[in-house]
Amino acid sequence: MDFMDFKNKQTTVVVVGAGFAGAAIAFHLTRLGMERVFVLEREEFPGMHASGKNAAMIRQVVPNKLISDLARGGAAFLRNLPLDWPVETKFEQNGSFFLASKKDSEKIQQDGAYAKQCGTLTEWWPIERITEFIPIIEGSPASGGLWCPTDGVIDIHSLMQGYLKSAAMNGAELKFSNAVKNIVVHHGRVCAVQTESEEIPADIVINAAGAWATELGRLAGSLNVPLTPCSRHLFVTKPLDWIKSKWPIVWDITQEIYFRPESGGLLLCPCDEEVQDPNITKNDPLILNMLAEKISHFYPRLSDLPILRSWSGLRTLTPDRQFLVGWDPCVEGFFWLAGLGGHGVTVSYSVGLLAASLIVEGNKSQSTNQFSPSRFR
Ligand SMILES: Cc1cc2nc3c(=O)[nH]c(=O)nc-3n(C[C@H](O)[C@H](O)[C@H](O)COP(=O)(O)OP(=O)(O)OC[C@H]3O[C@@H](n4cnc5c(N)ncnc54)[C@H](O)[C@@H]3O)c2cc1C
Repeated sequence: MDFMDFKNKQTTVVVVGAGFAGAAIAFHLTRLGMERVFVLEREEFPGMHASGKNAAMIRQVVPNKLISDLARGGAAFLRNLPLDWPVETKFEQNGSFFLASKKDSEKIQQDGAYAKQCGTLTEWWPIERITEFIPIIEGSPASGGLWCPTDGVIDIHSLMQGYLKSAAMNGAELKFSNAVKNIVVHHGRVCAVQTESEEIPADIVINAAGAWATELGRLAGSLNVPLTPCSRHLFVTKPLDWIKSKWPIVWDITQEIYFRPESGGLLLCPCDEEVQDPNITKNDPLILNMLAEKISHFYPRLSDLPILRSWSGLRTLTPDRQFLVGWDPCVEGFFWLAGLGGHGVTVSYSVGLLAASLIVEGNKSQSTNQFSPSRFR
């Protein structure tokens, strides 16, 4: 397909959605010199959906090499924020343990070996040694765990503000309470977006609409990419004096449960995954039973924790659980940055850079981009 030359810095780019996807690509596009970047967000504030409702963990060992590469790049950025980064952004690198029973320990060790080969320190620890380090896991059925000392927890609100402020300082125009209602396409090419109050001419529209990306694609008549929003619940306990704020993240990949220190208490997740209509907010009380059951079977020392609050957010998944980054094969100028699943915070810097580079370099790299929407053609 004959795409236009987007090297022109005057090209108008409209980013739809101010979650981590939209904020990060706006950050990179303006840094790469694009002069006419708009970010349109339906809500009054940025990050009101998945990007503000997640567990804030930076996790570099991932069972997919491509995503793992982006995760390492994202973590490296957070460790060394640029001098002109506009917001203080705390990254607490207390590390993570990925616990596994025998059947899963080989795979997680392979993933750890790949990360190590790429320069991220990882080490396999037997369960007895981990229990000495974090006594609350006593009774865990895991045989051991992969230690990744450079993982940690990021202040997601500052990170989001940092991307957006930086983009705005470099000329991006941010418009909140501004839902995109229509995308105008002429002769197979995007030419404008319409909100309730205005029409903005656009050469490129970036679909960073998270759980609503399929809906937004429909407005443009794009490829019908089967993105599935799935709910996941998080629970936070009251502050408890026996919890150490320096404890690392503990993620049992066999039993599918994770927890980490949060505000003097613990944040816990039973790794639920239920297909969810993004237009219906749901906080399913039954998920607390699921958490309680996993705890009583596998982490008995955490039984009867006083839960203070809980919420759910949406992880948006593609059928192959890889991201969706690239030009739409049906509508010229329509670009996807979606399907970031459970990794969108960690990879935000590097997937934003990948996406912005694909745009600024035109369609040359399209064939080499393994996250391309064309794979769902
Ligand atoms: C419970 C939970 C825990 C998680 N934990 C982690 C973690 O520890 N580490 C990690 O890296 N990742 C984690 N994630 C994943 C991460 O939160 C997501 O991958 C990421 O936030 C996705 O960002 P996004 O910008 O694609 O989507 P969103 O944050 O949903 O942003 C999309 C935005 O688009 C806007 N929008 C939609 N349609 C329109 C329209 N028509 N017009 C204007 N605006 C529109 C929406 O209002 C929304 O603000 C977790 C997710 C959940 C749910």
